[in-house]
Amino acid sequence: VTRYLDETVETMPRARIEAMQEAAILRLLPYAYERSGLMRSQWDKAGVTPSSIKSLADFREKAPVLEKDLLRAHRDTTGDPFGGIKCTDQPRLRSIGFTSGTTGDPTAIPFGDQIASNRGLKRDFWEMGLRPGDHFIFNILTIRRGQESDRFSDVDFRPICMGHAGHEIPRMLEACHIFRPTVFHHFSRPLITALEEIDRRGEIDLKDAFSSVKGAPFGGEPPAPKVIELVRSWGVELYDYTSLGDVCSAMECRQHDGMHAWEDLAMVECLAPESGEEVPEGTPGELTVTSLQDEIAPLVRFRSGDLITCTREACGCGRTHVRIKVLGRVGDQVVVAGRSIMPKDIMPMIDRVPEIVGGLFQIIRPQRDMSELRLRVAVRDDSGPAAPIADHIAALVREGLGVPASAEVLSLSDMLKLGPPHKIPRVARQ
Ligand SMILES: [Zn+2]
Repeated sequence: VTRYLDETVETMPRARIEAMQEAAILRLLPYAYERSGLMRSQWDKAGVTPSSIKSLADFREKAPVLEKDLLRAHRDTTGDPFGGIKCTDQPRLRSIGFTSGTTGDPTAIPFGDQIASNRGLKRDFWEMGLRPGDHFIFNILTIRRGQESDRFSDVDFRPICMGHAGHEIPRMLEACHIFRPTVFHHFSRPLITALEEIDRRGEIDLKDAFSSVKGAPFGGEPPAPKVIELVRSWGVELYDYTSLGDVCSAMECRQHDGMHAWEDLAMVECLAPESGEEVPEGTPGELTVTSLQDEIAPLVRFRSGDLITCTREACGCGRTHVRIKVLGRVGDQVVVAGRSIMPKDIMPMIDRVPEIVGGLFQIIRPQRDMSELRLRVAVRDDSGPAAPIADHIAALVREGLGVPASAEVLSLSDMLKLGPPHKIPRVARQ
C-alpha cells in the first residue's frame, strides 16, 4: 500500500518541478502559436514570438496574459465556436464541453482523451482513501466534462454517474447503500441544504447512508465552519476544491491548509490584477494558469478571475506542489466606506443567525465602491416576520465589519430561483 498515487511527481523537489515546467512551456509555445488562431493574433499584436522566450523567466516577463473576454471576442468576430483555442482535430479531438458560464455566456471547449488532465483528480481521490476497485459517487457539473465512463479506468476507480440536482438525491443515497462508495464527488451548498432538510424530517439515516464515505470534495465556494461541522455529523469529511482557471482543478489534502494545484499539469502564477506583475507569496493576486499537458486546447497565461493567495512551502502531507487559497472572485470585491470586503468576510456573521438557511446570502453590488453594504439573505418559509431578522443580521455585520449595512430577507424558494442548480451567486448587481 502506497501513501501517494504518483509518489515521484507528487513529492518532487521544487527545483525539478520548475525544470519540468520550463521544458513543457518551451515545447508548448511554438506548438500552440502555430495552431491557435487566438494565440497567434494576440501574440502578434503584442510583438512577442515563441522563439524570443528561452526560459521560465522570459515567459514571466514577456508572455501576454489572456483575458476570457478576448476569447469571447475572437469567437464572435471569427465565428469559431472555440474562440481560436483549438489546436487539433479528429481523431484526437473526442468531445465538446462548455464552461460553467459563471462570468458570462458559456464557451465551447474541445476535449481529447483527458487522461493527463484527470490525473490530478485521481491523486486527490487517492489522498481521501479511494483505491482501485472502489466506487465513488460522481454527480457532475458542466465544467470541462467530456467522456466520463472510461476516464478512471486506468486506475480502476469506479464512478457512479448522476446529475447534480435536488431530484437526484434519493438516487444518490440509494447508490450509497448499494455500492458503498469511498468518495462522494461532490457536495455543494444547495445539495447540503437539501440533505439538511431530509435530516430534519428524519426520513433517512444519513450517517448510515454515508458510512463508507471517507471524503467529499466541496465546490463552488469555501465551506463555512458550520457547514463543515454539519457534514461531519453525518460522518463525512469535506475537502475544499476549485477549478484551476478551467484547465484542471485544485483540491485540499488531509491537512486542509490550502488546495494543491498539480504543477506538472498546469503552471500557476499569482498576478496583481491591475499591473499584471507577480505578487509575493501570501499577497492576494489573480490566479493565472497555463496548461502544460493539453494538446487539444491549451490555455496560455489565462486569467481566471479568482483572487487567491498561494504558498510553495512544504506541506504536512509531504507533497511539494503549490497550495492556493481562494479569497473570492476579483469581481466580487466590494469597497464599503473605504474598506475592502469579500463575501467570505460576511460568512461568520451569517452563521450566527439560525433562521438563515444553508448560509445563503448575496451582496448587492451595483458598483465596487459603496457607502453601505447591502445584503440579501434566505430564511426557511416558516421563519416568521422578516423585519427583525433583517435588523439582526444588519446589526451583526455593522458590528463585525465596522461599516454601514442593511439586509433584505427572502424565502428559500425565492432565493434558489436566483442561481443555476449548483450555486447561488454571492454577488448580484441588483
Ligand atoms: Zn498537502
